[in-house]
Amino acid sequence: MNLAAWLDAAGRTDGTVLALASGTRDLATYHALAATAARLAGGLARAGIARDDRVAIVASNHPDYVACLHAIWWVGAVAVPLNAKLHEREVAWALENAGARIVFVSADHETAVAGAAPPCVERVVAFGGPEHRELSAAEPIAVAERSADDLAWLFYTSGTTGRPKGAMLSHGNLATMTFAYLAEVDPTVPGDCLIHAAPMSHGSGLYMPAHVLRRAVNVVPESGGFDPEEIGGIASHRRRASLFAAPTMVKRMVTAGVDDPTAFRTVVYGGGPMYAADAEAALDVFGPRLAQIYGQGETPMTISTLRRDMIADREHPDWRRRLASVGHPFAAVEVRIADASGRPVEPGEAGEILVHGATVMKGYWQNREASGRALAGGWLHTGDVGVLDEHRLLTLKDRSKDVIISGGSNIYPREVEETLLRHPGVREVSVIGRKDEDWGEVVVACVVGDVSPEELDALCLSEIARFKRPKHYRFYETLPKNNYGKVLKVKLRELDRDED
Ligand code: AMP
Repeated sequence: MNLAAWLDAAGRTDGTVLALASGTRDLATYHALAATAARLAGGLARAGIARDDRVAIVASNHPDYVACLHAIWWVGAVAVPLNAKLHEREVAWALENAGARIVFVSADHETAVAGAAPPCVERVVAFGGPEHRELSAAEPIAVAERSADDLAWLFYTSGTTGRPKGAMLSHGNLATMTFAYLAEVDPTVPGDCLIHAAPMSHGSGLYMPAHVLRRAVNVVPESGGFDPEEIGGIASHRRRASLFAAPTMVKRMVTAGVDDPTAFRTVVYGGGPMYAADAEAALDVFGPRLAQIYGQGETPMTISTLRRDMIADREHPDWRRRLASVGHPFAAVEVRIADASGRPVEPGEAGEILVHGATVMKGYWQNREASGRALAGGWLHTGDVGVLDEHRLLTLKDRSKDVIISGGSNIYPREVEETLLRHPGVREVSVIGRKDEDWGEVVVACVVGDVSPEELDALCLSEIARFKRPKHYRFYETLPKNNYGKVLKVKLRELDRDED
């Protein structure tokens, strides 16, 4: 099985259906898109790219991304989509680690990538440039035979700590992820569209095959970035629009205002914590069109999902608990909560979330040690702490390394953050631990907003156990984030140490 075969089939069975658009502009039918990918695959083969070779993409969201990714699979190679917002040094490191032979870039990244490319890179090909045109003028080739176990995508983890690692995702992993999405998140049908509002190197790109399989339109915003107004405009024009968005993006859309929520089919959020207060505000704006997924690069987009009807059903006695959860495990995977020695804990008890199933990566690229640790005992160790209740509702606590242990008690920053965010003066917050001689660690709240420590302390006293209250408050203009918008707690801990 080869994911590119889905595009090949779409070109043959539904050739006249619209496949690709740039904002409100239609660009290509399935016949045309498949033909472009087949020719570009021919060009890659002529350039010496063979099965299992790595071909990277460092690009802002761009319509050429779609054919390019498929051409890489078509020729049997492994795609390495990198976040275009990474620092040049980080890009160079990942290219070297992956041993990428060719790198496709959007024009805005050409100079930086060309300047930083390690020796393994033979060509840097700019989307729409002369080399790209030349490669795309080759004779089309047939889709390479691949087995479900063969690699399709090296997914470099976002690296909130240390060097990113390349999760090896196979064609089988991504096919199962696609079926899981279509069965449990959004049963996409022809005529729908996917607006690539989030990076195509990450969650949004991973949803591309589902939309090809179902003959929907892949729509790339003209800005190549995320602009709530532009997304609203595209949705109104196209209707039946779905998108994947990080919780911070949903929040920005809600703050900016959405003129026509009925233009959206599904807004899938995930990739980071959506605080209950923000989920409620989003529900007020979008209505029953929100779905949540919880996953990680190592089991892409597929650990659990909170269905749209569960998010929308305010009358349900468990509604608030559901909203604060990450839903139920996908049918495609088994999820288990385990203690430090890997033994399953009782329902309702906190432990590390372990995952087993057909979406779980084969390991990390050229990193046996980290692979062994992550896949010990045949289960993916997510590094996330969670609780599964007796109804199989999964609630995420925190990354295990972010849990604060104060006076021997575990404090989950997320719970404290949820509480602080209920104060209208708090715009953003992140809670970390600070080493302390008496307590082991004490709780520090890093806050963006107009509010006093006394007000926040009073709120905590009324809502959570005393030992969980922040002992210190720090106020910032903004919180440090990585390129996917995730708050860097490591950085906050450094700042806190330096300023102490
Ligand atoms: P990445 O591999 O970059 O996609 O990061 C995955 C990590 O993001 C997970 O291990 C979680 O810690 C976090 N994450 C993903 N989805 C969610 C979600 N729905 N709610 C809270 N955290 C999430």
